[in-house]
Amino acid sequence: MHKFVIGFALAFVIRFITGLMVDGGWLREPSMTALQRAPFTFVLPIALATITMLIIHRRTPRRLLDPRVKRPFSQLALGLAAGVGAAMLTVAVGHVFTLLVVKALLIGLLAVGVTSIAIGVLPRCRSYACVHCGSVIPEHESACPGCGAAESRGLDVNSVAA
Ligand SMILES: [Zn+2]
Repeated sequence: MHKFVIGFALAFVIRFITGLMVDGGWLREPSMTALQRAPFTFVLPIALATITMLIIHRRTPRRLLDPRVKRPFSQLALGLAAGVGAAMLTVAVGHVFTLLVVKALLIGLLAVGVTSIAIGVLPRCRSYACVHCGSVIPEHESACPGCGAAESRGLDVNSVAA
């Protein structure tokens, strides 16, 4: 799961660094130093994206985020894509709005919104399906008929609660 956060944060690192070349940064606040802008344009979106991902995965676990699934690049790419999307939209926010509190609110909302979409479209974990490939695993089988992985049954909310 941390690979998603790394990808997401990477996009905001790029946003932050490129913002250093703009007067007032992408936040368009010339009276603020880069360090003063960082909580709004860096810490806030990354923290909210992480919390959003954890809440969604806790309520409806996603196959890609299962610790048994070794697909670090997919997670990193997804996080980066979500981060780039959110970073570009939040740059636009700085151009359109003037009030700092409005800009901060919108940056937060965009981080939550884009992360919700990115995690939301991922296939869910199902207790009858393989976390690696999604194949249905028959009741009496322990290995997946699709990819052969052992003990790969998904842990969905219902099976965790049971
Ligand atoms: Zn499988």
